[in-house]
Amino acid sequence: MPVAPPGSDPVLDAAFFRRWLTALAAAVEREADRLTDLDAAIGDADHGSNMLRGFRAVSAALDTDAPATPGAVLVLAGRQLVSTVGGASGPLYGTLLRRAGKALGDAEEVDRERLREALRTGVDAVAQLGGAVPGDKTMLDVLVPAVDALDDSFAAGADAAGKGAVATVPLRARKGRASYLGERSIGHQDPGATSSALIFTTLAEVAG
Ligand code: ADP
Ligand code: MG
Repeated sequence: MPVAPPGSDPVLDAAFFRRWLTALAAAVEREADRLTDLDAAIGDADHGSNMLRGFRAVSAALDTDAPATPGAVLVLAGRQLVSTVGGASGPLYGTLLRRAGKALGDAEEVDRERLREALRTGVDAVAQLGGAVPGDKTMLDVLVPAVDALDDSFAAGADAAGKGAVATVPLRARKGRASYLGERSIGHQDPGATSSALIFTTLAEVAG
């Protein structure tokens, strides 16, 4: 494999996107119990199992199918999430990946800027579908700042994602199941924001 000079981004081709989603699926396996514990506190204790079901289906689909472009990898993954995850997070993450994949079109290779713009299109679609804005204690509290920070580097995206997840702790939930708790949602980290951070930490890992 060619070695990229220090500080430069790797080539983002279909193989890179497969490695990214495979790393994300592994992170979901590792973190599933924690995601479920967070959802037990302010939701219905199924976020870990929802994500596991979804990403096991993504891994299986990537094993049997070999999408030729970055966009096709994301669209395939998004479809699996929509069709296998029953909770609110399935359609939202499915929309994120499908819309980002469509925005990449047929390109065989993309750069960080093009990926960032595609993810921004996906995040806008998530906001439209779920009606949430940053500050509502949802996945958008990670997705929005992390995509902005991808402007600088993959590492900056991961850093912003981690900070965004922690920053949901003092917020009161205004969307999703956690909003039924009102004030009692304060003091807990949002499960969806926590899983969203994995998207960006694994991206930085695979790009690093
Ligand atoms: P469910 O709430 O149906 O049990 P999950 O537990 O899998 O689904 O996912 C819950 C997460 O989904 C929340 O922690 C939150 O981050 C995210 N979420 C829920 N509703 C919305 C929404 N309207 N907009 C954005 N994210 C949302
Ligand atoms: Mg739940």
